[in-house]
Amino acid sequence: MLHKKDDVRDELLDEVFASGDLSVSLPKYRMPQKEHLAAHAYQVVTDELMLDGNSRQNLATFCQTWLEPEIRAIMADTLDKNMIDKDEYPQTAEIEARCVHILADLWNSPDAENTLGTSTTGSSEAAMLGGMALLWNWRARQRAAGKPTDKPNMICGPVQVCWHKFARYWDVELREIPMEGDRFIMNAEEVIKRVDENTIGVVPTLGVTFTGQYEPVHEVSDALDKLQEEKGLDIPIHVDGASGGFIAPFTLPELVWDFRLPRVKSINTSGHKFGLAPLGVGWVVWRDAAELPEDLIFNVNYLGGNMPTFALNFSRPGGQIVAQYYNFMRLGREGYRKVHQSCHDTSMFLAEEIAKLGHFDIINNGGAESGIPAVSWKLKDGVDHPFTLFDLADRLRTRGWQVPAYTMPADRQDLPVQRILVRQGFGRDEASLLMADYRAAIEHFDKHPIVNSMTEEEAGSFHH
Ligand SMILES: *Cc1c(COP(=O)(O)O)cnc(C)c1O
Repeated sequence: MLHKKDDVRDELLDEVFASGDLSVSLPKYRMPQKEHLAAHAYQVVTDELMLDGNSRQNLATFCQTWLEPEIRAIMADTLDKNMIDKDEYPQTAEIEARCVHILADLWNSPDAENTLGTSTTGSSEAAMLGGMALLWNWRARQRAAGKPTDKPNMICGPVQVCWHKFARYWDVELREIPMEGDRFIMNAEEVIKRVDENTIGVVPTLGVTFTGQYEPVHEVSDALDKLQEEKGLDIPIHVDGASGGFIAPFTLPELVWDFRLPRVKSINTSGHKFGLAPLGVGWVVWRDAAELPEDLIFNVNYLGGNMPTFALNFSRPGGQIVAQYYNFMRLGREGYRKVHQSCHDTSMFLAEEIAKLGHFDIINNGGAESGIPAVSWKLKDGVDHPFTLFDLADRLRTRGWQVPAYTMPADRQDLPVQRILVRQGFGRDEASLLMADYRAAIEHFDKHPIVNSMTEEEAGSFHH
């Protein structure tokens, strides 16, 4: 009896690492037969995450890694809310609708109060929906004209992988304009060359993944206007504003890229990137309700009420949407401008420091005029480098920094570049610490030149 009591006592009082539960390693690929104390399981699982990189030093990601304590509180408060249950949680639904209207207004929709849009899990889902609307509208146009609908194509510059997915899933030919020399984005001339009556739309990116640059939406739109006058082809534009949709309106308001251009029919953005919301929210908004084919909207009645839905997911957390709305109220236009301008400033500081090192040419300095707060650079031609960008990326990892190096897409696969994404939470002080480590890495390679450099694969390409 006493022995039994002692057993239980041990179980209750053992220090976690001295416990019987943790005196053995847990199985990794099958479920254990027996239960474990919650505290013990928690310790083991969260300890394993120490092996992940430190997200704040992850300069590859575009997504938020620093969040205000109030956002953490909102996420905890809303953990139990399914955003699809719009009848049960009408106020969360109302907040989502307000966010759509706030974005429509921010992007200068002519009819922001009545337009349509939706939250999504990110820009990938939002792009899928935007692309589908282009495809459906094109098919309707073709059918009305008695023309075939079997060979749709879409024109873009060097896009994020979500557009490759869209094209493959929907059997749309992707006419991706290749990079050429020092041109790393689309231009009007290259777009017009590729347009025909089977073009469902043109998709410029505001903040290209590889360099952070803004593609020239206005110039492309003007060229398509001219094309319409000459040839009668009316080609719509969808803007992938995953990052830029939340930056340009604040730090470069004079840039005309949004619904001020009548040809821009829809825009997607990532709330969890420069929208400053926690991971798991994106947005797609149409210029006006008429641009969203009714066919794509489903009405469901089994949640109570009759709810129109247009999204790929059904159940989804509501917290990110509430946090997005919190940011709108908390920061306002002025707050967003300040946060993003400080990121641009830090980017330009980094670009100057990197240029001073003598080894590199800056491709984009991350200033507000050229794109999002991202610095990208390449090795200078005609100078001896005792390292490659992949070696540098690998060396920086010894200090926890994740600064991606990768080769460009077609037709510049020969060109390796490196890139830093500056986000809220990566300030001037961290930037100066990073630069000290960057200089130290170069000094290291000056002393110990690399004889046999790593390949891109060996270095583990980890850009987005
Ligand atoms: C990040 C990104 C995407 C994908 O967005 P997610 O929110 O990660 O799904 C699409 N396009 C561009 C230009 C991006 O930067």
